[in-house]
Amino acid sequence: MELHQLTIHELSEKLRSKETSSEEITASTFGRIDAVEKDVHAYITLMKETAFAEAKRADEAIKKGECGVLTGIPIALKDIVCTKGTLTTCGSRMLSNFIPPYDAAVIEKLRAAGAVFTGKTNMDEFAMGSSTETSFYGTSRNPWDLERIPGGSSGGSAAAVAADECIASIGSDTGGSIRQPAALCGVVGLKPTYGRVSRFGLIAFASSLDQIGPFTKDVEDAAIMMNVLAGYDNRDSTSSIEEVPDYRQFIGKGIEGWAVGIPREFFVGGLDPEVEKAVRQAVKTVEEAGARCVEVSLPHTEYSLAVYYIVAPAEASSNLARYDGVKYGFRAPESRDLLDMYKKTRSAGFGTEVKRRIMLGTYALSSGYYDAYYKKASQVRSLIKRDFDEAFTMCDAIITPTTPTPAFRIGEKTGDPMQMYLSDLFTISTNMAGIPGISVPCGYSASGLPIGVQFLAAHFQEGRLLQIASAYEKQANIEKRRPNL
Ligand code: GLN
Repeated sequence: MELHQLTIHELSEKLRSKETSSEEITASTFGRIDAVEKDVHAYITLMKETAFAEAKRADEAIKKGECGVLTGIPIALKDIVCTKGTLTTCGSRMLSNFIPPYDAAVIEKLRAAGAVFTGKTNMDEFAMGSSTETSFYGTSRNPWDLERIPGGSSGGSAAAVAADECIASIGSDTGGSIRQPAALCGVVGLKPTYGRVSRFGLIAFASSLDQIGPFTKDVEDAAIMMNVLAGYDNRDSTSSIEEVPDYRQFIGKGIEGWAVGIPREFFVGGLDPEVEKAVRQAVKTVEEAGARCVEVSLPHTEYSLAVYYIVAPAEASSNLARYDGVKYGFRAPESRDLLDMYKKTRSAGFGTEVKRRIMLGTYALSSGYYDAYYKKASQVRSLIKRDFDEAFTMCDAIITPTTPTPAFRIGEKTGDPMQMYLSDLFTISTNMAGIPGISVPCGYSASGLPIGVQFLAAHFQEGRLLQIASAYEKQANIEKRRPNL
């Protein structure tokens, strides 16, 4: 195995025992990027120069005996988190010249932990999409089949891990943007509880739903990343003071005697037969690991997509009002007056999907429609949350498919937004409820595309989530394949 193929915990062992150095790992990773990036297009911006400087610093720290578990590990960052001094585009023309003057909270934490940043990954524009096809910078490709999408919106971050162009990466999840691409690329993706990871320096899409989380090659690495990312931050008013446990202690603990809920509303029409088969097999595996599966009901699931497409665009229309060409970012040249400048800037700076969301959201919030749409949606959102609260009185965790189908073809759904939105059917209600979720690989389709299984847990039960995910991973022992690039 080459260095760039290993996990964080494997590399960290090798660094500690001085079997390798961060410079070697970083060189191996950039060698891989040189070889496959032209096909995958996982990145918008590479940070090669600063990466090698960080690797050098990490090696010095290790020599002094200061080796944290992330010291010297190459990590990729979704281009939605602000990186001081490095272009941060959010996949949009609107921010195509934006160099943040500060680091996001997660960047500060990763820096303090000694991580090496490989670059900023591609994403749907302002995280609105499920395929990276709305990116101003072109579509990323699924490493398992270059004709297919890697999922989205954090498609570049998922593809980079799957293609071994980094060891782990950071994504954000508003309606599934970590779990859906993780499933479609055959990696692990975790969305924490709302409030668990600081959103300071995360470019806002829908502030009541957005959460930052990791993509990793296995479940143990997800626990390692969460140990660094989680925690209170007074610069994010929704950040939680709930104590952060050592997430690694949940790895390998087993799930004997657990009750695992199977929501009946998630195994219905529209589910691809191969996905259904793989997830049903995962249910059996969880039982083999000693858990008891029980049917639970989440009766408001059928409204989750409709509610999301009111709430998220409403918040987005407000959040994106700041891009007016005045303070920072793109400004259209040659306008007659201020109003003309606003119009031209927003017309040229945003792509079609973002405009669609702004219009939907503005409409839903406008006087006369607010009660009918936004208020109603918020009420149904409470019911969705209540469904989960009730289900978790009957079980320790929930198991579902992550996505209705494996990765689809590039262009297959771009003409039909409804079809695109449906790919988030199983991930969106999690964000509405604010609970944590993880996608773990659970097999392959006949044509060799990865399939993911999703586990959900109650608020702030990331430990439980990691416990069941790692027990499943161990019991299932899914054949480790690598994309043929
Ligand atoms: N695909 C969903 C959307 O387009 C979710 C995106 C996300 O989680 N950022 O809004």
